[in-house]
Amino acid sequence: MRLLVVEDDKDINRQLAAALEGAGYAVDRAFDGEEAQFLGETEPYDAVILDLGLPKKDGVSVLEAWRSAGRTMPVLILTARDRWSDKVRAFDAGADDYVGKPFHLEEILARLRALLRRATGHATSELTSGPVRLDTRASRVLVNGTPVKLTSHEYRLLHYLMHHAGRVVSRAELVEHLYDQDFDRDSNTIEVFVGRLRKKLGVELIQTQRGLGYLIEPDASPALAPKGDTGQASGKREP
Ligand code: CA
Repeated sequence: MRLLVVEDDKDINRQLAAALEGAGYAVDRAFDGEEAQFLGETEPYDAVILDLGLPKKDGVSVLEAWRSAGRTMPVLILTARDRWSDKVRAFDAGADDYVGKPFHLEEILARLRALLRRATGHATSELTSGPVRLDTRASRVLVNGTPVKLTSHEYRLLHYLMHHAGRVVSRAELVEHLYDQDFDRDSNTIEVFVGRLRKKLGVELIQTQRGLGYLIEPDASPALAPKGDTGQASGKREP
């Protein structure tokens, strides 16, 4: 997951970015409204933390510009203003959640997890696929109940694929969502990470769809046909 932190207070911006990176996110940072608007319109963020009081352009105007440009990423508003009218303006402009300053980092992280879950319809902070369990609260991965040590890039990759289980994710999409803008992006490195990840997990989880990307199957519901079932023979047709 790749996030944008918009905050003109350099210390707060740095603290937030460090906490988010520590929690397994790729993070870009902006320090004024114009920079923020440009990044939010051109980069595919999974979520944004947006301060309201910003130089050059205020946060609500930036948010309005994103929404009218069709950008739908979840936005968590962050501000020292606690006037109810500011909150109303922000929500009406398209904000998804709100935290007042001073804030606790843990609350920001928890609210972000909730926003990211809601964006893709997950109900809890734990993602499961077959024998693999990924706990987004602890940034931890278990295979058959045993913890597996992953690097931050491997974790981000697995998190993104499990978050989007059931959908083929292209290498280009992975590059855009796993790395911040300063990273030397090369889609070939994705293949290397996938290889390492498969080895560490030691189970069949990540499927390669030739020419398209990677796929993790969502947890099958018991009502579905088991694997290996060829389905209705009568439904099969020769080309
Ligand atoms: Ca500010």
